[in-house]
Amino acid sequence: MTSAKRGRVFSGARPTGRQHLGNYLGAIKNYVTLQDEYDCVYCIVDLHALTTVDTTENLRQNTYEMALDWLAAGIRPVESIIFVQSHVPEVAELHLILSMVTPLGKLTDLPTFKEKVRQQPHNVNYGLVGYPVLMSADILLYKANLVPVGVDQEPHIEFAREVVRSFNYRYNTSVLIEPQMKATEFPKVLGIDGQQKMSKSLNNHIELASTPQETTERVMQMVTDPQRIRRSDPGNPDVCNVFSLHKIFSSPEEVEMVNVECRRAGIGCVDCKKRLIERVIEALEPVRAKREYLSRNTDEVRQILEAGNQKSRTFAERTLAGVRELIGF
Ligand code: SF4
Repeated sequence: MTSAKRGRVFSGARPTGRQHLGNYLGAIKNYVTLQDEYDCVYCIVDLHALTTVDTTENLRQNTYEMALDWLAAGIRPVESIIFVQSHVPEVAELHLILSMVTPLGKLTDLPTFKEKVRQQPHNVNYGLVGYPVLMSADILLYKANLVPVGVDQEPHIEFAREVVRSFNYRYNTSVLIEPQMKATEFPKVLGIDGQQKMSKSLNNHIELASTPQETTERVMQMVTDPQRIRRSDPGNPDVCNVFSLHKIFSSPEEVEMVNVECRRAGIGCVDCKKRLIERVIEALEPVRAKREYLSRNTDEVRQILEAGNQKSRTFAERTLAGVRELIGF
């Protein structure tokens, strides 16, 4: 990692396999941009995944598929680190050490924990409670200054900062660094149903590396302004997710044209979608092509991940050695 940049970014995401537009616009695009200014460490958090999955059958494949999409989208492994959490076991030790300076009540009070209890009352496991401690260990091992996350993760970053203060106070040190949060520009992307956040489990997603035909099919299924029944009815782009995606993928002139013409029924939804399809296909073509290349060169991808695992492990060992020394092990 070079020292000419402004600091170090860390971010992680669970291995969910092939990525979709929601993942791209909400996180990956930001990951790519951040590389210009920061040393970046991007982690596929497969240990975290164990808190919620019923089976690990697809874990390895999902990890690999996600790495492919990250690389295809523009993560540059020569200057950034991309690695798999479970391949750096130091994180488990730091997690345990940090848990000793963490009041249990703080964890059980977190809104994200309460939400998980509501979602999976049959499986309120210890890992679920300790999730923010493991996340803190991830961030702190790499001495990250900045963590790009969605607003729903804000309490976790604040929690990590408190853990740092508790640890540094107890051991009279400044060895751990308080991270700052960087909110993502597009925290929520709706699915093709126009109602819920884009998600694979809801099957309302458009895959990042989808073929032109797949993109066409998905966009054509998109729900538009529900009040616009006939072609002659004026529409309201403000409530239409097709328009939201136009604002991301189309030129300002085209967005303005849709905005005006939709309201006076000058453009039909099918034509409007066809225009969006062209823009999305254009934008995703380089990602699709790179993914195709990478999926034909699996050894290259595995080498990138192994090198990332090794680099992050070296870094983590150094931080953990300092922590162990301070404690007096
Ligand atoms: S014309 Fe476009 S923006 Fe207007 S309702 Fe139809 S799809 Fe949505």
